[in-house]
Amino acid sequence: MTDSDININGIGMTSARTRERLVSRLREAGITDVGIIDIMRSTPRHFFIDEALAHQAYDDTALPIGHGQTISQPWVVARMTELLVEKSEPKKILEIGTGCGYQTAVLAALGAEVYSVERIKPLQEQARKRIAALGFGKVHFKHADGGYGWASEAPFDAILAACGRPDIPKELLEQLADGGRLVMPVGERDQQWLTVVDRIGDEYQTTQLDAVRFVPFQRGILK
Ligand code: SAH
Repeated sequence: MTDSDININGIGMTSARTRERLVSRLREAGITDVGIIDIMRSTPRHFFIDEALAHQAYDDTALPIGHGQTISQPWVVARMTELLVEKSEPKKILEIGTGCGYQTAVLAALGAEVYSVERIKPLQEQARKRIAALGFGKVHFKHADGGYGWASEAPFDAILAACGRPDIPKELLEQLADGGRLVMPVGERDQQWLTVVDRIGDEYQTTQLDAVRFVPFQRGILK
């Protein structure tokens, strides 16, 4: 094993070459922020998925993580993160839909304080362990319906939702700091657009970007 290989808790080894292939693919797909590219290169995606799928960890595709959910496609993670940091450096980020915790790790690697909400308890527990094992200290988890945000910790400089629905919950807009930015897939189940909302005082400027397909933003919690 060389220095550029990684093996966390015996989950498996991924070569530097496999990761470089993903980085090239992200660049081809329009990701330009060098800091984000570096984070995508160094975040061990294989650590967040089932060992049986680990050989696909650095493919640019979504993969199943159980409970009918998926780990987001790396391009989507990079794109959403790039949009979040485009105008300013968010210090406090709210994430809705922790899932396996991969996007959470990417946000934590920005150096921000991350507040992550997940409605499915076993996914949240697993993500918490993974994030702790990777040594990220500034991540806070909550088992709740993220449609209500995390009022006691608001306002947030940035809000990212990894699940889609036709409207943006008003609680999320209210919990966005002045000058803050929200990124979320908005639309019906089969047709959503990455949507950016910038808050300036009491004004909200909405921009619709790439066509995407996310799992649905659901209501209530699962134990
Ligand atoms: N970035 C995550 C995405 C997981 S898929 C990853 O790469 O693993 C989206 C997640 O959103 C799922 O885990 C789903 O359970 C969660 N979710 C859906 N609706 C939610 C809600 N109302 N509140 C919190 N989490 C929600």
